[in-house]
Amino acid sequence: MNRRDFLIGLSGLTFCNVFACSLRKSPDDTKQQQEMEHYDMQLRPHHILDIISDHGKGTEYQAHPYGHSLHIVGPKLLSDLDLKIKLVLAADDICKGCEHLLPDGQCKDVLAQLTPSPSKQAYNDVLDSRLFDDLSIEPNSVITTRKYLEAVNEKVPGIEQICTHPKENQEERLNGLIDGLIKLGVRDQI
Ligand code: SF4
Repeated sequence: MNRRDFLIGLSGLTFCNVFACSLRKSPDDTKQQQEMEHYDMQLRPHHILDIISDHGKGTEYQAHPYGHSLHIVGPKLLSDLDLKIKLVLAADDICKGCEHLLPDGQCKDVLAQLTPSPSKQAYNDVLDSRLFDDLSIEPNSVITTRKYLEAVNEKVPGIEQICTHPKENQEERLNGLIDGLIKLGVRDQI
């Protein structure tokens, strides 16, 4: 995604996608049931795709200067696809310990690779709203990583057009996702 497309998407979709998600909220009883349901981790949909793509590329985890928890969450997620994940449109378990996480749960970081640099909070919310829509999954759903990745696999190729980050190579993203899904046994060898 180039900078212009990203900014158009951000300005045009921030409101409508987040608003659309809020309109789609489940009835109260379903919501209460979701909140009570056990889960092992809560994660943003795109953070899982980042982990799968990195896994496909063979990226090794190490502590990040931001202090966030990707190096803890990534290996845990990959070690057991039957863990239950709450898919959230908010700060998640990766954000724990991050120096950019504000007390109210908002992210104060920016996308430094773009000039001017947009808010990462807004960028993440638009990106994850698009993923929830594309995958027909409701925010706050609790499903296993395996089920989530099976849904993702149905959208590969194609989903890389949504989840490739600015200045990231879209073909590399697609190949990372494919290789990651194959390594995890979710996708057959080509
Ligand atoms: S989304 Fe923001 S708060 Fe969360 S890990 Fe990334 S930079 Fe930190």
